[in-house]
Order: sequence, then C-alpha cells, then structure tokens
Amino acid sequence: MRAPRGECMNGFVVWFTGLSAAGKSTIAGLVAGELEQRGMVVDRLDGDVVRTHLSKGLGFSREDRDTNIARIAFVAHLLQRNGVIVLVSAISPYRNTRDDARKLIGDFVEIYVAPPLEECIKRDVKGLYKKAIAGEIKQFTGISDPYEAPLNAELTIDTSTVSVEEGVQRILAKLRELGFLDEKAAAQPTA
Ligand code: ADP
Repeated sequence: MRAPRGECMNGFVVWFTGLSAAGKSTIAGLVAGELEQRGMVVDRLDGDVVRTHLSKGLGFSREDRDTNIARIAFVAHLLQRNGVIVLVSAISPYRNTRDDARKLIGDFVEIYVAPPLEECIKRDVKGLYKKAIAGEIKQFTGISDPYEAPLNAELTIDTSTVSVEEGVQRILAKLRELGFLDEKAAAQPTA
C-alpha cells in the first residue's frame, strides 16, 4: 500500500552517471530497495531500458545522446514534482546535458560512479567493450566516444575499491546529509 503523501513530501532525483559497466544500475537498484523499505515511492529510469521504448530508434551521436538524456530528465522531473524519488542510471556522458537536467529538476543529486576504465573493460558485463575495442561497435563511450566527468558531483564512488554494499551506504549517508532522507519522519506511523 502506498504511504499517504503529506505536503512536505517532495520528490528528488538521484542521477547516476559513469561508463558502461561502472556499476550504476547495480547500485541504483539496491538504493531503490533501501528507500522502498523506508516506505518511499521510488521509480527508476535506466538508460538501457529507456532506449527500448521512450528513446527507441535513437543512436549514439552527440545529438541523439542529448535527446535521450533530455527525455529522461523530462520524465524524471514530472515524477519528482509529484513526490516520487527517481533514480536515473544512464551513462549521460556530456556535462552540459547533465547540468541542464540539474537545472530543470532542482532537487538533483549527482552520483559519479567512477571505477577506472580498465576495471570496466575487465568486467565487460555485456561484452560491449570487447566489440568496441575490436571496432565492431562505433561511438562507444570511453573507447571511441567521450565521457566528460562531473566537476561537482555530490558523490563520487570508485567501485573498483568500494564494495557494492559500501557504495549503497555512502549514498544513503549523502542523502541524509543533504536533507533528502528524514529517517525520523519515515519511521512515524502513517495511519
Ligand atoms: P552500469 O549500469 O554502470 O552499466 P552495471 O550495474 O550494469 O553497470 O554492471 C556493473 C557490474 O559490476 C555488475 O556486474 C556488478 O556486479 C559489478 N560490480 C563489481 N563491483 C561492484 C561495485 N563495487 N559496485 C557496483 N557494481 C560492481
């Protein structure tokens, strides 16, 4: 059952950016679970999933990547302003485009998931790096396409040295520090 929405319950967006296989989706999924356990209304916008419908047909040129991110930001904003906590995991390689999302959304927490490229290549969860290095996939971020690292992310997590669990805890601590997680309010009876 959904918790009743009080007038003080504002949504916010946690935006995970970083290379493919950095760990964005893995961590976002676990953070979503933690927030849901606290009775919060959470939605996820995952880059790979979005590209199968909302952004179906878009490619990987700068223009198409920007369109993809602008669409994600638009939907995230709609949800967030209706009290939903939105977790976005998308490479979102261009700084300006992420900054535009931040401006649109306002309550925006940028998490830079940042293991070294070598670690992502070693993981190669979907086998894409192998293909990109062999030249079979063009415009692959980190190999043949740019990634502009955030300059002012709220949090940076190097998942080659920080475990999944620790990464999740660091994000929850950051949300608490920024005032987005009021554990005391969440613990109050709702009926
Ligand atoms: P992305 O969404 O950034 O493309 P995924 O979450 O799909 O990345 O894949 C990251 C992979 O790295 C997963 O297989 C995950 O289990 C693994 N991994 C290993 N260590 C970590 C860590 N500390 N944090 C997050 N993922 C990790």
